[in-house]
Amino acid sequence: MNLKSTPVVRPSMPPYEEYIHEIKDIWSSRWLTHSGPKHQALEEKLCEYLDVDNISLFANGHLALELAIDALGLSGEIITTPFTFASTTQAILRNRLTPVFCDINEDDYTIDVSKIEALITEKTSAIMPVHVYGNVCDVDGIARIAQKYNLKVIYDAAHAFGVKIKDRAVGNFGDMSMFSFHATKVFHTVEGGGLTYSNSKYSPVLARLRQFGMVGQESVPTVGTNAKMTEIHAAMGLCNLRHINEEIAKRGRVMDRYRELLSGVKGLTLCNPQKNITPNYSYFPVLFNKKEFGLNRDEVAALLEKNNILARKYFYPLTNDFEAYKGMFELQKTPVAKRIADNVLTLPLYADLTVEDVDGICKIILHHG
Ligand SMILES: *Cc1c(COP(=O)(O)O)cnc(C)c1O
Repeated sequence: MNLKSTPVVRPSMPPYEEYIHEIKDIWSSRWLTHSGPKHQALEEKLCEYLDVDNISLFANGHLALELAIDALGLSGEIITTPFTFASTTQAILRNRLTPVFCDINEDDYTIDVSKIEALITEKTSAIMPVHVYGNVCDVDGIARIAQKYNLKVIYDAAHAFGVKIKDRAVGNFGDMSMFSFHATKVFHTVEGGGLTYSNSKYSPVLARLRQFGMVGQESVPTVGTNAKMTEIHAAMGLCNLRHINEEIAKRGRVMDRYRELLSGVKGLTLCNPQKNITPNYSYFPVLFNKKEFGLNRDEVAALLEKNNILARKYFYPLTNDFEAYKGMFELQKTPVAKRIADNVLTLPLYADLTVEDVDGICKIILHHG
């Protein structure tokens, strides 16, 4: 079997002609950024698709997260998890706040709600859980704790575009949810991000923060940054959104094939689908147990790489293990996250990956002897 180089993710692209058509009027209007018509249309379409009351768009998901913390006026400590992308933890630190790391569940890798209360101090102002791999957190349990201790909740929903909990869209929980529209995510605007929220009072606050804290041209009541989404990026979003259901369905077929071939294999742990959830098939993580399977995670990754298949140790290292934070956090406080991070490999998954590609990848993994 001769596989061409297979990346771990590959951006979805709309038909070229469709994109060219979409950006055509920008050449005559010369409205390139600053909440132009594409930006407004995308906001409207995303509110519909994500089934939320409000959305604000940004240059990327990370800045959206930084500005969510700012808009909610958080201070002191924020309870979060280390089993995530660098962005979640860095958004807290760049706001000069302190992340307090809570461990994760064994089965879905989201925050272990039974361990949150013990971490709350008088300095805690919020919880920032992650719907990691598109798995949803225990939103009811988190809401109960937030209400009891008067804490804000910001969900890092970067992986959860289009996910539903029973019939409720995932962007409707907590005070705000952040979606990333980075090129490698299920839905993308090349670079981009959005915040969804039910309280519309945040809309002008966020608009100000993403435009240097300015209101109009002469009033600057707060310190902000530049985090605006351009018209060129919004146009990519408008195109991609037209194909999103099809893209998600194709991802689903890839994931079904992986499950068919890999479930029940001794020494492999797959992440089981959650109950009552409409998934978006964003990632396919597998845990490898060397004693039972014969190879550890690093060996499987190396074997795949030898065959030009790039799986990713996503998420490794844990964010509380980054050299940038040396000595700041105690890894032994999040033992489950540590064990998952040491054994997990995310296999290639994107809409255009074929069943034959999946068969080839699984064959290499399973016939390693
Ligand atoms: C991608 C991602 C982000 C950041 O999004 P960008 O749009 O790339 O800035 C934040 N959190 C998680 C979990 C992510 O995967």
